[in-house]
Amino acid sequence: MRSFDILLAESVERHGHLCAGQIIGVRMAMLGCTLVGIDDPRSEKYRKKLIVYVEIDRCATDAIESVTGCRLGRRSLKFKDFGINAATFMNIETNMAVRIISTERSRDLVRKYAPDEQSHYEQQMKGYQLMPDSELFDVQKVKVILPSHDMPGPPRKHAECHVCGQMVRDGKEMVVNGHSLCRICGGEGYFKVIETD
Ligand SMILES: [Zn+2]
Ligand SMILES: [Zn+2]
Repeated sequence: MRSFDILLAESVERHGHLCAGQIIGVRMAMLGCTLVGIDDPRSEKYRKKLIVYVEIDRCATDAIESVTGCRLGRRSLKFKDFGINAATFMNIETNMAVRIISTERSRDLVRKYAPDEQSHYEQQMKGYQLMPDSELFDVQKVKVILPSHDMPGPPRKHAECHVCGQMVRDGKEMVVNGHSLCRICGGEGYFKVIETD
């Protein structure tokens, strides 16, 4: 694994600014990879062995992507929209997985680890780097149920929507009264159509 400083610099470059989320995200990804036996997630040896679930779409997620190389478009990054500062790191070769949660107590502890810094920002930047993993994170050993159609690689499943005819890939259809429906026809749409050309 590259050093924390190098990984943080890469992540800040990609994210656009240095923030607490970059520090926490880099540390979370380094710890997660190490705990599931992946030394360098972007190396040829490990590139296809890691799947990461993120539970929030905020700063730290960019850092986790940067460190691990996991991407939505490669299906190695999964997004669960839970609004929780946590991520799960899964080694798909061994099935070993850990869920790492950024602790609420760490917010107050930054002052203890950076007592000389005046501004809250500086306290965070220093405190989140110096605090031990055990204060910054809670770690759960978990078992992830990863269906075969959610694995990276070619699509294994597809279904045609009974209402609109749209092809739904990767087992993401809903089944209502025995019919396959796309999520939109199934009532889970996030938009209203104004006009279709
Ligand atoms: Zn940020
Ligand atoms: Zn449909």
